[in-house]
Formats: sequence, C-alpha cells, structure tokens
Amino acid sequence: MSEAVKTWHVLEILKVTEEAFLKKGISNSRLNAELLLCHATGDKRIELYLNYDKPLTQIEVSNYREFVKRRLNFEPLQYIIGKTEFYGLTINVNKNVLIPRQETELLIDKTLEYINDNKFKLPKILEIGTGSGCIAISIAANAECIINAIDISIEAIELAKVNAANNSLKGEINFLVSDFLKGDISFEEYDIIVSNPPYIPSVEVPHLNTEVHAFEPYFALTDGADGLKFYIKIFELYNSTYKKPQVFLELGDGKKNNIIKILNNFKITDYNLYNDLIKIPRVLELKGSR
Ligand code: GLN
Repeated sequence: MSEAVKTWHVLEILKVTEEAFLKKGISNSRLNAELLLCHATGDKRIELYLNYDKPLTQIEVSNYREFVKRRLNFEPLQYIIGKTEFYGLTINVNKNVLIPRQETELLIDKTLEYINDNKFKLPKILEIGTGSGCIAISIAANAECIINAIDISIEAIELAKVNAANNSLKGEINFLVSDFLKGDISFEEYDIIVSNPPYIPSVEVPHLNTEVHAFEPYFALTDGADGLKFYIKIFELYNSTYKKPQVFLELGDGKKNNIIKILNNFKITDYNLYNDLIKIPRVLELKGSR
C-alpha cells in the first residue's frame, strides 16, 4: 500500500523553511521563505498572509522544495526567482549578470540630477559594463536621452535587451557587445559616461560571501587584477578627450584614498565624491567641459 502523501499548508511550510534557513545562517530567513513560496505558487505575498491555512498542491510543494534546496546551497534569492527591484523597476537577472545593488541607485540619482540641472535636450550617454542593463534602463526610464550601453558578455547584452523591452522608457538605448579594456572607444561624442565597473581586487573574490563568489559572474565582480583597471582606462580616455564628458563612477567600499591618489597622478582635480546611505564614498563625479 502506498504511503499517504502529506498535505502541506502555507504557514506550516513557511515555518519549517524559516528554521532551516536560520540554521544555515541565511539572513532574512522568513522573507526568503515567503518569496520562494510566492514563486512556487504564483501568489502575491499578501495572498500568503490571507491564506495561511491553504493546502498546497503536490506540484507547488515539489517546485518549492527545489527552490529551497538551491537557496540552502547559498544561491542568491534573486537568481532563483529570476528578478529583482532596482530604482522602482523590475529587472530580470540570471547567472550571467551581476545582481543590481541598492547602493548603485545613487549613481542613477547623480546622473539624473546632472541631466535635469543642465536641461539637456538629448544627452548622449555611454554606459560601460551594463550587465542586466539596470543603470541604462533606470536612466532611460526617467530622462530623454540616447545611451550606448556596452558589455563584454553576449549573454548579459541579450538579457539587458529583454529588460529594456519590459520597461517603459523615455530614452533610447543601444546595447552593444564590446570589450572596453581592449577596445579603442572614444569619449569625444559623449556628454556623460556612467559605469559601475568590476572593482573588486581578484585576490579578494574568494573571500566574499558564498552567495557572491560562487554564483555571480567573476568578470562582473573583478577586472582579474587590482580592481582599478577600468578607472585608469576611463581617466586616460577622459584626459585625452578635448570636450570632456561628465563622468559618474561607482566606487567600492574603502577605495576612496586609492582613487584620489590615481586622480592626482592623472592631474584630475575637478571632481566630487558622494556618500551612500551608510556614509561610504560611493560615487565619483568628474566634471566635464562640454
Ligand atoms: N551595470 C550593472 C550593475 O551595476 C553591472 C555592473 C557590473 O557587472 N560590474 O549592476
């Protein structure tokens, strides 16, 4: 005789998962459990709260188990559910792109402020290392502009195009596969350069959280060297440009002094640094001359 299959209910399965996540040291354990269950059932979070006694179907339970297993293996929640929120937009993510971070929103704020303050008609923008496209898309969702967004990864560019199509944009974005470090891009035609470059020194990558180093793309995290290659190439191009663009770059935690030294070497003196919400210098702005 076959054993009766247990019927799981919403609240009960959430509690069991929350405990399992806690034991593994996964933070926001209850929220993780809820979002994975929503992904398995197709429900909204509010619907879970309203239906704690709801029995789950066998298919829902087996899908949910798969998701929980992946999370217990430290795969980021965003890769399992396939999306995240950034600058009020839904951005699809997969293992080919960095998961957009909240601190990067400051880069968008500063870029949009600059566009609005200067009453640009149609600024021409270059984004270096677009990944999921989150930066270009957030700018284009809020300003009329033309953006060339480049990335070395074909898979990232494919996803960024899908993300752009899924959001309603005021600006136009051209996504291009291009190796910025090897290529010979000129800044001459651009009003604005924006980038969240791979800035983690390669030696630090293995010491990052498992969620990050075992799952996020290596070349979205690091330049394979000291984490400064992109800045140096950007400063070189900036210095060699006659009509300089305004440049907005994200900085890694604790990189301020290093970057200031390099700016001094390049004799770049006209810049600003902006702190993020937890007071870490996060955005570097170089003044343009256009
Ligand atoms: N522009 C993307 C982001 O900020 C990707 C950045 C990267 O891969 N270094 O999320």
